[in-house]
Amino acid sequence: MSSIIRQDLPTKDWTIFSVKRAARPRDYKEIKDNKVIKNYEPGCPFCLGNEDMTPEELLVINGEKDWSVRVVKNKYPAVESMEVFKVGYDRRHIEGPYLSIDGVGEHEVIIESSWHDDNLVKMDVSHIKKVIRAYRKRFIDISSNPENQLVVIFKNHGRRAGTSLDHPHSQLVATPFVPGYIRNKMFESQRYCDDFIRCVCCDIIDYEMKSRERLIHVNDKYLAVALYASVVPYNIVIYPKKHQSCFAEISEEDLLDLTRVMQTVLKKLYGLLNDPDYNFVIDSSPVDQSGNRHYHWHIEIPPRLSTRAGFEIGSGMNINSILPETCAENLKNQKIPVF
Ligand SMILES: [Zn+2]
Ligand SMILES: [Zn+2]
Repeated sequence: MSSIIRQDLPTKDWTIFSVKRAARPRDYKEIKDNKVIKNYEPGCPFCLGNEDMTPEELLVINGEKDWSVRVVKNKYPAVESMEVFKVGYDRRHIEGPYLSIDGVGEHEVIIESSWHDDNLVKMDVSHIKKVIRAYRKRFIDISSNPENQLVVIFKNHGRRAGTSLDHPHSQLVATPFVPGYIRNKMFESQRYCDDFIRCVCCDIIDYEMKSRERLIHVNDKYLAVALYASVVPYNIVIYPKKHQSCFAEISEEDLLDLTRVMQTVLKKLYGLLNDPDYNFVIDSSPVDQSGNRHYHWHIEIPPRLSTRAGFEIGSGMNINSILPETCAENLKNQKIPVF
């Protein structure tokens, strides 16, 4: 059988796997230009010494000499905090049959290092732990404002992933509503829970731990798997083993294991696919639904190796040319590069 169509349980979305179109891992390897990146760029707002080039600082985590991680407001925000809008205004606007609302929300930048040429795969574990601690701190702070209904933390690594600055950074965007994509995932997860009295991801985790076919890496508290119905090649998901619906539920003790699993899979991707462009996204319950039993927060890491083409756009259904079992096997066998 050269083609199989799989359904993603939480979303009910379908993905076509066409192994005839399969390419071996090396076909996906990126050919990087040999651009040399220096550890300081005078015009870079995120570099050490250029702190006055960024908007308001929201959090700083210090290192031995200078800061290690800084969180600042995004200079070019996709959404803006309430203060810039008038209190008591009507944020809904109706024009004929159309509805629009003002772009209220939060948009922050997590500067992962003071060095321009740093990279998550090259940082030591204690530094990445600080980055994830900053994510957690900002997630909790932003969630404490009831205006913010969805908080998304994400990273765009490389041009194809949508980054505009080389300096290592990630972002946080909070919106005052829950978009349909997330609402649908929540709905299907809740429906599964109603049917089986179990969290769908807890069932997936139990099965993946038993089958081990798509398991890439596991430690005491987390596991990384190649997603069963992944829409793109090498799509990795990291789950907490214990049921947690919201990223804010991770404890200080969980941070080390989460850091280790993140770094392991990112290093393996780096080694196998020659530092591919990728995104990662922390997918968590909307703030006002945290603590529920049906949604299980997780981190998705889709490398940017393929492009959505006509069929994908026309049908909403994806064609993937490599099976997740093959991706998991290749990543499992990939030695962790040493820097
Ligand atoms: Zn820089
Ligand atoms: Zn669960």
